[in-house]
Amino acid sequence: MTDQREKPISSRRAFLSASAAVAATPVLGVRAAQAAGHGLHRQAPDRQLRALLREIDPNRIGAIVTRLAAFGTRHTLSAQDDPARGIGAARDWIFEQLSTYAAASGGRLTVELQSFIQPVSSRIPVPTRVTNVVATLRGDTDPDRVYVVTAHYDSRASDVLDATSDAPGADDDASGVAAIMELARVMATRHTEATVVFAAVAAEEQGLYGSDHLAQQFRDAGADVQAMFSNDIVGTGDAHDGTAADPRTVRLFVEGVPTAETTAEANVRRSVGGENDGPSRQLGRFVHDVAENPQTGMKVRVVWRRDRYLRGSDHISFLLRGYPAARFTEPRENFAHEHQNVRVENGVQYGDLVEFCDFAYIARVARVNAAALWSLAQAPGTPTGVVIDTTRLTNETTLRWQRGTSADLAGYEVVWRETTAPDWTNVLAVGDVTAVTIDLSKDNVFFGVRAVDRDGHRSPVAAPRPAS
Ligand SMILES: [Zn+2]
Repeated sequence: MTDQREKPISSRRAFLSASAAVAATPVLGVRAAQAAGHGLHRQAPDRQLRALLREIDPNRIGAIVTRLAAFGTRHTLSAQDDPARGIGAARDWIFEQLSTYAAASGGRLTVELQSFIQPVSSRIPVPTRVTNVVATLRGDTDPDRVYVVTAHYDSRASDVLDATSDAPGADDDASGVAAIMELARVMATRHTEATVVFAAVAAEEQGLYGSDHLAQQFRDAGADVQAMFSNDIVGTGDAHDGTAADPRTVRLFVEGVPTAETTAEANVRRSVGGENDGPSRQLGRFVHDVAENPQTGMKVRVVWRRDRYLRGSDHISFLLRGYPAARFTEPRENFAHEHQNVRVENGVQYGDLVEFCDFAYIARVARVNAAALWSLAQAPGTPTGVVIDTTRLTNETTLRWQRGTSADLAGYEVVWRETTAPDWTNVLAVGDVTAVTIDLSKDNVFFGVRAVDRDGHRSPVAAPRPAS
């Protein structure tokens, strides 16, 4: 290919060096910037990721979903000490399974039971012990940078306080638990640069209490959680309602205006826009970039809202604390199969049964998660301190940021798009610098900055905030 847009990086670097010689901050002429910038390419899975994706096993996922459903109910208020039935038995089984994965990790994967007493509150009539099962794969070179993936292992029947009726919760959310457990298994034998946390949380159905505790623990520890995903209802691409199945699509819900936006941030947004450039939106673009490909076999249908109407999930606990977060869920739900007692009524089967799950589908969703988490954990962290200079009125754009600390950091790329475009359309490699001036007006496009490592892994994009 001799496409003008495929200019090798070296020629752009040469131009930047020449510019840098005459100015403290490299200045890119508008014609040069437009020529060197080009349409973005998808980030293809690296060799290790391709091998990892092939290891994700639908049969193992099927066995996990089936086992979890066989605990009868996993209601948060159900028995905690019965070895066969109830949430306690499910908790201990998940812990044991994750511990066997940890045994193959050379000490990098550790598993803990994270318990607390939830006091009387909405949907919690008596003080109740809630336990998250948390597996942490410690990063080799950047262990303080954390990515979190969750699913909830509690289930419910029609009455949200009914702790005794059967509540198999196969799709909601044994499917998500199976996906993250299989992810933990295949990632445990590999080395990641950053830390990845796989958490089966409880009390989601009662009010997100488990994930609320998990997110607060990270907040209290000052943890650098750079992305979080909830996998909730990822059991099938077939709604079993007479509509055509859509087995190659997963939805990803990502909010626009941040849930935790401050008043000052809101004022900036009203002034110059940015409704579509919050950190979760950038995460959504990143997942679409790295996870929609032939190796996952999936289309990532990004939905620009925090969650579905009348519904929420554990990502909200992280959004409330300012962490970028998103929720995976199947393309079309059958509400007769969620939050319903198992029964047949007028010839219709109600209940969240294993027979409505598609284990190959869940495996593909797990591959989408794997592509996202692997790409995040192997790339440099999202750039920090990114600002757009507003010291004076000018038709140029000066961007500044702090240099990251990743051991294999190679440099940075500036991306931009028309303000009306949904995703980045142009990219410009600017080298290992912390400031650049581009002869394009910041009034007319949206800019972002991402980091690149020596292997070509790109970080999520950080949108600049104005600073003078
Ligand atoms: Zn759920």
